[in-house]
Amino acid sequence: MIRRLAMISILFAIICSIVLIHRCLDLSSSPRIQKEDGALAEGLTVQIDSIENFSETNKEKVEQAAAAMESALNSEEFHSRVSGFTWQGKQSFADNRGMSNDQIYAAIMSGRETYSTDDDHTVNLNLILYRPPFYKKWSVVGYGYPGTPQIYVNRYYLAAMSIADLAGLLAHEWCHKLGFNHDFRRTLKRPYSVPYGVGSIVSDIAKALDGTTRSVVLN
Ligand SMILES: [Zn+2]
Repeated sequence: MIRRLAMISILFAIICSIVLIHRCLDLSSSPRIQKEDGALAEGLTVQIDSIENFSETNKEKVEQAAAAMESALNSEEFHSRVSGFTWQGKQSFADNRGMSNDQIYAAIMSGRETYSTDDDHTVNLNLILYRPPFYKKWSVVGYGYPGTPQIYVNRYYLAAMSIADLAGLLAHEWCHKLGFNHDFRRTLKRPYSVPYGVGSIVSDIAKALDGTTRSVVLN
């Protein structure tokens, strides 16, 4: 019995280390995406450039969300859902800055924020955790100002959110950094804007990738 237990734990340790090695390899190489003609293009890397006021636990959560966001953005499903996004029966986003869905996809994959000078294929995240006053506790999940890299995350929401929803929030806020906007008020059009549309696509895909299909994330 003891020998069998020992065998099982050794086997478990071997499997764990294989998984870990895979993860390290995956993190060290920049992601690639397959284009329609089968060629490989440079994918997006999600990078946390700065992080303020996060505890170790919160930092870990946001790192997992950034990894989930990266997997989602580089997936084929993301490409097809952005290309096929519809609003009012037309293949388009609301508040699209005059861009087609394919142009929006290309803008996302370029990683070029409005204040950045090149297509670095990198989502640069600068995150600040803040504690709103109690009467505004649940008013907004996060916010940022156009033309500046900072993203402010409400610590009450951060604690309550799943990794997938946090990935969606980061994607939403980062779309603002690409210059996309939406109605301030809760209009019927707002969910079809680029930040809201892309945010929910990312959180849907991250949800599907989470847990059971871990190998998909690693590839
Ligand atoms: Zn927004």
